[in-house]
Amino acid sequence: MKKLQCNEVFVPPICPGCGQGLTKMDYTSYEVWVFDLETGHYTEEGIGDCSQKCPNCHADLSDVFQEGPVNYDARESTPES
Ligand SMILES: [Zn+2]
Repeated sequence: MKKLQCNEVFVPPICPGCGQGLTKMDYTSYEVWVFDLETGHYTEEGIGDCSQKCPNCHADLSDVFQEGPVNYDARESTPES
């Protein structure tokens, strides 16, 4: 793990609904696991629901975080200079 450089300042993406910087967001996901009687193991059935919403205006943020907030990288999204 590299240390973060202190001379860089990243800004959060902007909410398409209210125009505020998304320093916070609501992110919920429910994974469905099903017990398999034949193997005795649980298998993942799929994601039942997955929503990403602005806490301010509840706009859908799935376009902003196309790969999920975990994979969001401000360094790739910030235009240079
Ligand atoms: Zn918003």
